[in-house]
Amino acid sequence: MAAAPPSTAATRSLVTARIDTAALIRNADTIAARIAPAQLMAVVKADAYGHSTRLIAPALCAAGIRDFAVATVPEALALSQLLGTDAEASADVRILCWLFEPAADLTACTRAGIELGISTPEGLESAIAAGQATGITQNVHLKLDTGLGRNGLSLAQLEAVLNRLRQLADSCPRPVSGTVDAGDGRDAEAAVAAVPLRVTGLMTHFANADVPGDPATVDQLHRFDTLYGRLEAELPGALRAADLRVTLANSPAALSLDPVPGTHVRAGIGLYGISPFEHRTAAQLGLTPVMTVTSKVLNIKDVPAGHGASYGLTYRTARDTRFALVAGGYGDGLPRLAGNRGEVSIRGRRYPIVGRIAMDQMILDLGPAEAATAAEVAIGDEVVIIGDGTTGPSAEEWAAWCETINYEIVTCISSRVDRIAVGDRAAAGPPDISAATAGAEPEAVAHEH
Ligand SMILES: *Cc1c(COP(=O)(O)O)cnc(C)c1O
Repeated sequence: MAAAPPSTAATRSLVTARIDTAALIRNADTIAARIAPAQLMAVVKADAYGHSTRLIAPALCAAGIRDFAVATVPEALALSQLLGTDAEASADVRILCWLFEPAADLTACTRAGIELGISTPEGLESAIAAGQATGITQNVHLKLDTGLGRNGLSLAQLEAVLNRLRQLADSCPRPVSGTVDAGDGRDAEAAVAAVPLRVTGLMTHFANADVPGDPATVDQLHRFDTLYGRLEAELPGALRAADLRVTLANSPAALSLDPVPGTHVRAGIGLYGISPFEHRTAAQLGLTPVMTVTSKVLNIKDVPAGHGASYGLTYRTARDTRFALVAGGYGDGLPRLAGNRGEVSIRGRRYPIVGRIAMDQMILDLGPAEAATAAEVAIGDEVVIIGDGTTGPSAEEWAAWCETINYEIVTCISSRVDRIAVGDRAAAGPPDISAATAGAEPEAVAHEH
């Protein structure tokens, strides 16, 4: 890892997240190799799972990825702006989002060319309205609920959507000459431009893909196949793209199913080098964690036996010992649950977090002053709070201490933590990206979406 040592300037956040864009690209390559001939659609919602979309998306784009997905419309618009500045890529970058209020005014999406996942007849109506209001065709992916029970069209909702699409197709002006399939590119274009809405994709989402071999996944695949067959037959030709993009797999499905279903894979967590499986590590999957969260030792003091640590004095020293104060707390997104459970690493050695984690700081018990474990730690030492399991505790270890999943650990690293790009690509990349994230203008860093 070409790790640029973080600056010690006081203007930089005390807790920082190094984002290894070289590892990101290796992870993307590993996933792409596994899913071929399906293609990668990179999921960069929730600020790229806490890794900073401003660092992640341009790096993926520079590596040739053109399909992106986020959850919400504001995320999609911000991503469109971010990637729209890349002249080479902007022509063929596609951005999909699927979570919005069904009655919302979607014209901003239409104008930005953002594709919408449709999960309700009401949402379809809003997408049609946006296409009609702008005179621009709104591209949509029909999102089918095949068993997750979350978003996605139920069977009854799918009937309503199909009826509406038939009605819309009937009311659309026919192309002047030929049909969409006539093979004449200009006629096809004219016909397409006349429609307010076009179906460019079909999607569904798995409930249990992180449990390889789970029968629920097989059930969902069968249900999707059946619906796919119906849509192939019943989607009005004038309102469907010739090359429907079909996405089912998330990271766990992409990394476990054989064959991988669909034309594209909506992969998030795997890109960030984090395993979606409980019993398979990132290393076993050929993935490398992209984020390393580090901090600094700010104070060291010797305390007598019986001394308390932090709010509530939930920890008492059993003997004379040495405490280290480390910047980092729940205000940085480090869950309070890890107090008296978790560890961090200094110079490759693990130390326990004692007492409660506070908003901004935590206490380590380094051991008796005369022991090497304590003697070798100095004020200013780097502390690895989240590493890859060898450099420091992994996101999986944090998840176990905090009774959650690794997804939540990285996604919740807060906006107070500066994200700093490291890795070959970052070194060669445009200076404004890493500079903007280095803490010079904190409001311009990773907080805005
Ligand atoms: C978040 C999300 C994904 C990505 O899932 P990962 O497990 O992170 O790969 C894919 N599809 C949908 C609908 C999602 O909400």
